[in-house]
Amino acid sequence: MAVIGSGYTGLSAALQTLRGGRSTVVLDAEDAGWGCSTRNGGQISTSVKPDFEELSKRYGLERALGIVREGHDALAWLGKFIANEGIDCDFEVSGRFHAAHNAAQFARLAACVGREPASLETGAYLVEKNDQRTELGTDAYCGGMVFPRHAALHPARFHRGLLSRVLAAGGTVVSRCPATALDRDGPAFRVQTPLGTIRAGDVVVATNGYTGRLTPWLRRRVIPIGSYIIATEPIEPDLMARLMPRNRVVGDTRKVVYYYRASPDRRRILFGGRVSHGETDPRRTAPRLHADMAQLFPELAPVRISHSWVGFVAYTFDALAHIGRHDGIYYAMGYCGSGVSMAGYLGMRVGQKVLARGQGQTGFDDVVFATRPFYGGNPWFLSPMVAYYRWCDGRNR
Ligand SMILES: Cc1cc2nc3c(=O)[nH]c(=O)nc-3n(C[C@H](O)[C@H](O)[C@H](O)COP(=O)(O)OP(=O)(O)OC[C@H]3O[C@@H](n4cnc5c(N)ncnc54)[C@H](O)[C@@H]3O)c2cc1C
Repeated sequence: MAVIGSGYTGLSAALQTLRGGRSTVVLDAEDAGWGCSTRNGGQISTSVKPDFEELSKRYGLERALGIVREGHDALAWLGKFIANEGIDCDFEVSGRFHAAHNAAQFARLAACVGREPASLETGAYLVEKNDQRTELGTDAYCGGMVFPRHAALHPARFHRGLLSRVLAAGGTVVSRCPATALDRDGPAFRVQTPLGTIRAGDVVVATNGYTGRLTPWLRRRVIPIGSYIIATEPIEPDLMARLMPRNRVVGDTRKVVYYYRASPDRRRILFGGRVSHGETDPRRTAPRLHADMAQLFPELAPVRISHSWVGFVAYTFDALAHIGRHDGIYYAMGYCGSGVSMAGYLGMRVGQKVLARGQGQTGFDDVVFATRPFYGGNPWFLSPMVAYYRWCDGRNR
């Protein structure tokens, strides 16, 4: 069995198949974990973007429930997995503060309270603007909502833990070894690489925002989008205590969101978002992210940046993750920027599908993985779309 991509999805799939008794090799075009899985913000949520109402309109009540339940299951699975495996990755059920960037958005959040489907309640509660400083050291928002079960981890340490479990289970992980061609070979597959050809009974593609020419069908279905983060230099503990009094992970209601948190050691602020219309060098976005951060937290204006980086997430045309099999090849991808729990979880599920022992069903099964006419994998529409969304966010502030 061959897995292409060594992030959370690929390693989690590999762990399943290895423990299910299948010999498994994982390939990565770069170093193991080079993609999003070692460079994300480490914020853990229920991951499903469209709300229950929207999903019910699209797919009917039953399937909508199934999809929302997957988000809850992914969140719960991750906490249990880390505990069971004993992975040391600064995992903490920190809760999330979802900040309203204008009064209309606060009203929208307020209208959601108590309207979650039975058995899928999140325990979320509102925080009025007057009480906001108990959550976050800024007056820039109009209140928000706390999701107490959301969590945080150190992304690269989690990846390292996952990698060590795969190796301990007997897996082979080959870095700097891109799969360059993928063909049928009778009932099996031939995976070509610069180091040689692998014959594999099954193949899982786990390339998410780095899905390329190797798998044109998948490439036409995911939209790679850069997400940018800066880390500040260490700040004084007093300042950290004012800015992040409850150590929440934070996101806001903008269309082009800002997401941020304290680093696991509580010495730095990690501030992420998208400040350019097209993709660019993280050295160029760093000053702009810094300016936006300082607007929200004026106390951070004199604090310098120590690191700035970018990674590519995969959006989909229906804003849902997808898992399945096409032309015999398994895949799981399209986490729309929220893959810390979902990638590992769907990796586990796709591994179960490969084992074919009656497990691995998900609420995403049979949701059509749609593309659009004339889309080949190059998101030419991104720049005007981001510009428009940022304009909306600015106008409604
Ligand atoms: C800056 C940033 C911040 C983020 N913050 C959060 C967050 O706070 N919370 C959250 O839930 N999610 C977040 N995400 C998203 C999350 O990190 C991803 O959804 C998740 O890591 C996806 O994991 P993956 O294993 O599917 O893909 P990746 O980790 O991206 O791995 C894909 C791998 O495939 C490899 N590859 C591609 N083509 C080939 C080939 N032909 N041959 C071999 N290998 C190949 C790549 O080299 C890459 O290593 C963030 C992402 C970024 C970039």
